[in-house]
Formats: sequence, C-alpha cells, structure tokens
Amino acid sequence: MTSFAHCITHWQRHFGRHDLPWQGCRDPYPVWLSEIMLQQTQVTTVSGYFPRFMAHFPDVRALAAAPLDAVFSLWAGLGYYARARNLHACAVKVVAAHGGKFPETAAALAELPGIGRSTAAAIAAFAYSERAAILDGNVKRVLCRCFAIEGVPVGTVEKELWALASSLLPASVDMSVYTQGLMDLGATLCIARKPRCPECPLATSCLAWQQGRVQDLPTPKIKTRKPQRRSEFLLITDGKNILLQRRPPTGIWGGLLTPPEGLERLLDFGLSARNLQTLPPRTHVFTHFRLEIHPYLCRVEQMLLFVSEPGLECLTLEDALQAGVPAPVSRLLREVMALTSDKRDI
Ligand code: SF4
Repeated sequence: MTSFAHCITHWQRHFGRHDLPWQGCRDPYPVWLSEIMLQQTQVTTVSGYFPRFMAHFPDVRALAAAPLDAVFSLWAGLGYYARARNLHACAVKVVAAHGGKFPETAAALAELPGIGRSTAAAIAAFAYSERAAILDGNVKRVLCRCFAIEGVPVGTVEKELWALASSLLPASVDMSVYTQGLMDLGATLCIARKPRCPECPLATSCLAWQQGRVQDLPTPKIKTRKPQRRSEFLLITDGKNILLQRRPPTGIWGGLLTPPEGLERLLDFGLSARNLQTLPPRTHVFTHFRLEIHPYLCRVEQMLLFVSEPGLECLTLEDALQAGVPAPVSRLLREVMALTSDKRDI
C-alpha cells in the first residue's frame, strides 16, 4: 500500500514538525539520545532536557566517561530512571565494543542496552535511512484505527501490527520523513482523545473514521487498579543541609538520592517522633503501582553525626536539588527550603 507512505510523507513535509531541537541532523548520537528521552515522555518536556544534555555530553565518548551520578543529575525530573542507567550503559558499550561508533543497522542497535526494536528502527531510519518499521504507542494507535484492527495491541495483535508496519514501509521515499510523519501524525492528529480526523491525510482510507469507530480503537486494556505502597520519608535537616540516601542500582529510582525511609530508622539516627513535623502526604504514580509518600520534617542542630553509614550523604539543600533526585523528592526539598528559610538566611 504505497499510498499510505506517500500520504504520510506528503503530509509530514507540509504539516509535520520540523523545528524540534534534535531534527535536521543524521549523527546517530543526538538521534539516539532524543529517541531514548522521547520514550514515555512528551516532546515539550524533552525539548528542555535535550539541549542541556547535549551541552554537557556533546558526544558518546563524553557520556561514557561521565560518572553515572552526573547523568542522573541531568536526567532528574524526566522520570523512568532506568532509561538514564541504560543510556549510560549503552554509551559505555558503544565506546568499549564499537570504538565509539554506533552500529549502523536496526538489528545491531537493538543489541545495545535500553534500545528496543522500535527505537532501534527509528534511529536506523533517521541516521542511516534504513527501511525499518517503528511501532511505538502512537503508531499502534494509528494502525489500529486506520486498518480497524481489533484486540488489545499486545501479544498476537502486536505481532500482526509489526507485520503490517513492515508491509507499509515505502520503497522509494525518504525514510526519515516517513518515520517522522508517522510519529507526528500519532502525536498531533491521531491522538487518543478527540483525534482531528477531518484534517488527517489518511481520512479517506481510514476504516475507523469511515465506520464511525474511532473512539473504539485501539481496543482498550481492561483497567485494573494499581496496587498501593506506602513509604515514610524522613527529611532530616539543619536548615542548610539535608540527609539523603543513595538507592540500590536497581528497583524504583535505582541509583538516585532519596530521603531515608521508614519511621523505624529514627532510632538509627538517635531521633524520636517528638522531633517530627508531619507534612501533607502525596501520591506518586509509577507504571505498576502507586506510592503513597508520607513526609516528615525532622529539624536537627547539626548533621555530622548521621553521615557515617554507607550510602548516606549530607548535601546542602541547593546541591541536593542539583543532584539526581526524582521529581517528588525535588518538590519536597523545595518545601523544606521554604519551611526552614529562616535558618538559611542567618
Ligand atoms: S482519520 Fe482519524 S482515526 Fe483515522 S488515522 Fe486519521 S486521525 Fe486517526
């Protein structure tokens, strides 16, 4: 179905996005970096992070040579921190195993840490013009609607979509324009709610639009309630410094700094519940569960006694904000700064 590819590329050239910070360059390093950042993250958010990251780590060797903490620090707030860990691991592997040069095929790219099949195809299409099919969430939505594909797009339905995406690959048009066009269409017209079908270049052939089934496709997953977990965060501060703990490298917020957790740890620090000020609880939603955070502000006279335990770090509040801390911790640190500003002003 060549008309599908031509519709997409023609539309992209006239109505697609052309001024994103990572566009207009075939160097695989920025292409890869942007594709990893764009996984599960909006273009508007990535547009702020990408230039900062490039300024600090202008090439794959600079990134591979950097300590992981420095990567986390620049990634803080983007979420899905396993991406940052894999990003660093991938840079290290590209330098160590490929002499600092990214492999030039989607299949070889998919062997690197953090690069799945769709991301590998996108990098190969943008950097090397390879005819490789992408299938991210947006593209699944476009294909399910356009071809009226029933069923939740996982498992066998996902396999069907991969086969369809491959069969639609154009033989003769610019792969980077086609790939960008699919991404742009899924992000700007064929959006989940209220798609803009009258403006869509696929409207005349889109089965979901023709059949009035746009809102029914893709078939939604059956929603299950996410399990809830609870954690108490101890914000131990003298008003200038804060005690943080380096998390284990894997698991949630792996490798990042967060406050010590659990009221039972007060004893470890020679503190009691009398020292605590309860702050409003809040919820952070992860992919597979909701974390109910109960923060406690604990003001102490001086911090020195607490930092002998491995993994504990005492940072100034300002430095802590610059370090690799997850977004909810960053918000808490700002609250601590506001609540203790009298001490810092002395
Ligand atoms: S016509 Fe509507 S549903 Fe079909 S691909 Fe275009 S935006 Fe999506």
